[in-house]
Amino acid sequence: MSTPDGRHCGRNSDSIPCLRVALSVPVSQTFVYAAPGAPGPAARVGCRVQVPFNRRRVTGYVLETLTQPPDRELKEVIDVLDMEPVFHNKMVSFFEWIAGYYLHPIGTVIRAALPEAHFKSAGLTKKGVTMLNRGLFQSGESAMLSWIRDHPDSRLPWPLKKVQPLKEKGWIRLETRVSKGGGIADPHELLFIRPTKGLELKAVLGQRRKSTAGNEVEFLTEVFDAGAVLLSDIKLRFKNGAYLANKWIKKGVLETVRIPVHTHPGGAAVPPPSPPRELHAHQQHALNHIRASLDRGTFSPCLLYGVTGSGKTEVYYRAIEHAVKLGRQAILMAPEISLASYLEGLFRSRLGDRIAVYHSGLTRNERHYQWMRMIRGEADLVIGARSALFAPLPQLGLIIVDEEHDSAYVQEETRGGPHYQARDAAVVRAKMENAVVILGSGTPSVQSYQNGINGRYHLLTMPDRVENRPLPGVELVDMREQRNGRGKKEMISLRLRKALGDNLAAGRQAILFLNRRGFHRLFLCRACGRSISCPNCDVALTFHLHEDRLMCHYCGFTCGTRVRCTSCDRGDFKAYGFGTEKLEHEIHTLFPEARVSRMDADATRRKGEAFRILRQFGRGETDILVGTQMITKGYDFPHVTLVGVISADLSLSFPDFRAGERTFQLLSQAAGRAGRGNRKGTVIIQTFNPDHYVVRSAMVHDFQSFFEREQDLRKKLGYPPFCSLACLKLQGAGKKKTETAVRQLNADLRTILRRWPRRGKEIQVLGPVEAPMARLKGKQRWQFLVKSKSAALLRHFLVEIERSSKWLRSEGVYLISEVDPYDML
Ligand code: ADP
Ligand code: ZN
Repeated sequence: MSTPDGRHCGRNSDSIPCLRVALSVPVSQTFVYAAPGAPGPAARVGCRVQVPFNRRRVTGYVLETLTQPPDRELKEVIDVLDMEPVFHNKMVSFFEWIAGYYLHPIGTVIRAALPEAHFKSAGLTKKGVTMLNRGLFQSGESAMLSWIRDHPDSRLPWPLKKVQPLKEKGWIRLETRVSKGGGIADPHELLFIRPTKGLELKAVLGQRRKSTAGNEVEFLTEVFDAGAVLLSDIKLRFKNGAYLANKWIKKGVLETVRIPVHTHPGGAAVPPPSPPRELHAHQQHALNHIRASLDRGTFSPCLLYGVTGSGKTEVYYRAIEHAVKLGRQAILMAPEISLASYLEGLFRSRLGDRIAVYHSGLTRNERHYQWMRMIRGEADLVIGARSALFAPLPQLGLIIVDEEHDSAYVQEETRGGPHYQARDAAVVRAKMENAVVILGSGTPSVQSYQNGINGRYHLLTMPDRVENRPLPGVELVDMREQRNGRGKKEMISLRLRKALGDNLAAGRQAILFLNRRGFHRLFLCRACGRSISCPNCDVALTFHLHEDRLMCHYCGFTCGTRVRCTSCDRGDFKAYGFGTEKLEHEIHTLFPEARVSRMDADATRRKGEAFRILRQFGRGETDILVGTQMITKGYDFPHVTLVGVISADLSLSFPDFRAGERTFQLLSQAAGRAGRGNRKGTVIIQTFNPDHYVVRSAMVHDFQSFFEREQDLRKKLGYPPFCSLACLKLQGAGKKKTETAVRQLNADLRTILRRWPRRGKEIQVLGPVEAPMARLKGKQRWQFLVKSKSAALLRHFLVEIERSSKWLRSEGVYLISEVDPYDML
């Protein structure tokens, strides 16, 4: 804590309350300011303020009101930006923990957590209009009122404290608006279309079948099925959506309506509630434990290890229900937005409107709206992806992290926000709020399972599928033996082809999983053999047929296919490898009668598209679903009887000590999609490594044997959870400059170690080495691995590094720390 730039130009602090403020700029300390002296909204904890800093105005967040003001003069807060706090008192320590643990400036942690900036606008009240017409006040006020009359939705050009008196007199109402609102009149209401009351689709189509052409039937079915759809959404999905909407509105079949956004505005159709059912013994046991913990109201971490299809979702639901009964709220996190939307559909049918949704797929308006509902206590349950970790619930009682093993819970450092592991941070948040946290998975992470064994987490096991449905049989296909007559490798083995054919003939559904997007993996120059790679990154460009372009999956760079080789300048290339796009084409060729759809980052770029693909598949309107890891997660499609894994080897070869763990999870999760209904499922895994222990264990659904092998390996090699590990990444723009910084930091690290003669030996610093992708988005990347058996010592060391490496930032080189938090409890 210190005063901003230390100059004595403010007021004396004894008489006025002081505020501890985190600034939204990259500095790690917090600062003390005097509360605004002039009348205006109070600067409470959780409000955003404008403060002077280094002769600039910056946004800050009030963390604390100090009862014991420091004995020096303070600068004064310029303006208070919020009428009501945007985060609770209780969240301050959580933000501070994230900042400290992941070595990130606190103000930028908070900035990244809050929905994007909003601003105040004002409108005249009836009384205000009367006053303005009568001209009964001072000229300053008159000018302000006229401006407000003429600019009803605009950002107020004055600080809030200046308009506050007008509000107190009842002449204006103040509103919070989101910056760049995109023309939506009210952030709470969006424009939907819906069928006119009393009309039935059959009747409409029956009368007009002749005049409905092209995709009109599909369009109308969509609207009638959903009940109401967001107009902007339907315009995205149907090229002629605007025309069709207009046409049918004119005919009186559809009508427009402004609806306050209570739902994910994909217009998610709410499935009817399924009848309450009896829990099976393992579910009941798990639930009893969770309920008892909730009743105690103390921190309690549980690992719910239930095989795929064991009915974890039902346990989540009942746990949430119990928390709500006790007057507390819950967060349910899913690793992916599409999975969050899917869960939202399931839960909305049972919990109704007291659900909030929060993830980065929402527009700014929606995010802001959902955030304010949460903070006002208008939601009992928040469903979202990793950013839901920060949901500002007043009485948080339960956090559920579904598919806890998923690496998507790791938030990479972006736009100045922190790097963090949302699952681990969820455990810490639960601890701070005296809440229960459930980490759920059919294939727990090695770390969480180890915590379950050593008693840090309470291990709850559900080893059987619901109604004793058998786990699917898994077959391996050795791809080393699969070559066609010309010696060319086939994408789909004969075995899988036959199984697909049989499955189709029986009228059942299949899922094909391939963890790579695009059509061809790379273009090789026929003359010199080099691949065409991204100018900004150390990776080959992938060919995408739909766009007819080469694309970089890391930075988004794209170019046309009429390129020349950067090494030899020839223009003749051969395409190698395949991705989901090619797989989809191949299936079309092999089974022209099958209805195929594809789900990957390309196919789901448009909002609502993932939801639509899943819904169609769920209704049985698609026979084969092709996709990346997106489709392996959590979904429950009872009619899927065949799952094909096109290549089990892709993730095995990753340069990461978790490659084996990740592959086991992917294979098991993919396999877990098969045979969830009454019929037994089949899984076919194609691999070049049929003897690998990961593939073997996945084949017989044996988590235990996988875990034991993995445990041995990690013990031997000294990897987590048997030691603490931090990866320090350095990232800078110029090659020379970055290398110099790396060398300097290396020297600094060694100096710190030498200063600790005894304990220094317990820390191992590996590196510097070039990071696995040495150039990414135009940045040079280096890394150090820091290991220690003592988590506390590692922590201490990292803090030292943070302190001594401040010079890096001024060199334009960034230090990112990724830590495995084993010491958090
Ligand atoms: P998991 O998330 O563990 O993979 P789900 O929660 O999706 O499994 O449950 C699998 C299926 O079993 C779902 O269709 C669900 O509705 C059903 N189910 C869950 N609990 C029961 C129960 N006690 N009795 C009958 N069916 C159940
Ligand atoms: Zn790139």
